[in-house]
Amino acid sequence: MSGGETFEGGCTCRSVRYRMTSKPMFVYCCHCRWCQRETGSAFALNALIESDRVVLVQGEAESADIPTASGKGQRVARCPKCRIALWSNYAGAGEAIRFVRVGTLDEPDRLPPDIHIYTSSKQSWVTLPPGTPAAPEYYKSRDVWPKEPGASCRRDRREAAGNGLGADRFSALRAPRSAYGLPSPPAVRARTGFHRARARCASRRRVPG
Ligand SMILES: [Zn+2]
Ligand SMILES: [Zn+2]
Repeated sequence: MSGGETFEGGCTCRSVRYRMTSKPMFVYCCHCRWCQRETGSAFALNALIESDRVVLVQGEAESADIPTASGKGQRVARCPKCRIALWSNYAGAGEAIRFVRVGTLDEPDRLPPDIHIYTSSKQSWVTLPPGTPAAPEYYKSRDVWPKEPGASCRRDRREAAGNGLGADRFSALRAPRSAYGLPSPPAVRARTGFHRARARCASRRRVPG
């Protein structure tokens, strides 16, 4: 469907296997202390991709809701047997966008980070490569998003999703927003924003990429 490039991955016990049917929109390396704790390591490496471009090839992932620094929560998809985390959905971007854990890909080296974020809390022995953008905290997608054809469309969709479409779908499943004392998102407005962005992309899609 899109571009021809695919990426396969899965858990350690191989019960769950998945395929990304295109390149992700964006890859970031997060050095925040939350990611350090969740990975048990120095940073997390996540690939942002539209959920419909992640296809389960084998098995089923199981979801668990866990808190995040923002207070909005994330839903982590894990293998039910070996419990390896494969991807997350964040309440901010909701069900529309998955944050795939790059380390679960068969060839993780194919997706180096586009940016390092929260470098203010990076471990002191980690030396960042010159040439890759780095931000002390979060990033502005307009500043650092890849420039290749089609990328800005996908950024628009990601931003529209971040405006609440997903958050609404999320709360429909388990109401994490109210659990965290957050107001309900402006669901209808956000949803049409997301669909408008998707329609704009579809009409531009004749361009390669
Ligand atoms: Zn497994
Ligand atoms: Zn982080």
